[in-house]
Amino acid sequence: MLPEINIGDHVEMRKPHPCGGTRWVVVRLGADIGLVCLTCQHRILLSRRELNRRMKLWLAKDTEVEQTRHD
Ligand SMILES: [Zn+2]
Repeated sequence: MLPEINIGDHVEMRKPHPCGGTRWVVVRLGADIGLVCLTCQHRILLSRRELNRRMKLWLAKDTEVEQTRHD
């Protein structure tokens, strides 16, 4: 199953959006997960199962910040 989901988390999809973007941000939680394409701002709703199947990489909020901090 999915890890814990929070608003603002980023997801990378296996297939790129028609706009060419693969990075999405979580904007809505519930039975369905709302995602907005970071490249074209297109909004979609996916069931958790569908999201789990389509995503390649889960990037919790601040993950990249944590990884690049050197203190
Ligand atoms: Zn897009």
